[in-house]
Amino acid sequence: MFIKENISKVMTFLYQTKNCLSCGVRIRFGDIDCPHCGAELEDLYIEWATKLLRSLNCEERN
Ligand SMILES: [Zn+2]
Repeated sequence: MFIKENISKVMTFLYQTKNCLSCGVRIRFGDIDCPHCGAELEDLYIEWATKLLRSLNCEERN
């Protein structure tokens, strides 16, 4: 049951809109650089992954 719930959480996270931290342009998941200003998106993905992991860990504790 936990797996199903976690999968739906991951899907929700994947469909979340992400925006470039430098110029605010909407980012498609999988882009390595911002298509508008060329900024590296590593920080954005790290932040995104951290939130996702936190969300999944919380679910396990409940
Ligand atoms: Zn940008």
